[in-house]
Amino acid sequence: MDCLFCKIVSGEIPSYKVYEDDFVYAFLDIYPCSEGHTIVLPKKHIPSFTDMEESDASKLFGSVNRVAKTVEMILDVPGLNIGINNGEIAGQSVPHVHVHIIPRREDDNGGSMHTIVETHPDKKNIAELAEKIKNAF
Ligand SMILES: [Zn+2]
Repeated sequence: MDCLFCKIVSGEIPSYKVYEDDFVYAFLDIYPCSEGHTIVLPKKHIPSFTDMEESDASKLFGSVNRVAKTVEMILDVPGLNIGINNGEIAGQSVPHVHVHIIPRREDDNGGSMHTIVETHPDKKNIAELAEKIKNAF
């Protein structure tokens, strides 16, 4: 498969691997947003997070938790952003689901999840929207 991340997992393309288990592979991003920026992904090719089976998503996030704790400890940072760009519109540049772990430091000029999109939608239908989502399960 012509997928950059599948080639990294297989070793066809070299990477700075930091962790591997039966389900995931983790490596340092070579275009880091901050020192220690780490990518965690499932070894099998799954295009996006919302394409994942819930059991696979659980395994992925179990390992993300393990890697995040280690990155935080080794880099001795006070916090991390942990997130997924899900879909091209959301900034996903490689169509193989992956989680970013981005170490944060004082005065790094970074933002929070609330700074990604700021369209400030009208909230008059928020209760109706909550019902609609709740009733879809
Ligand atoms: Zn892939």
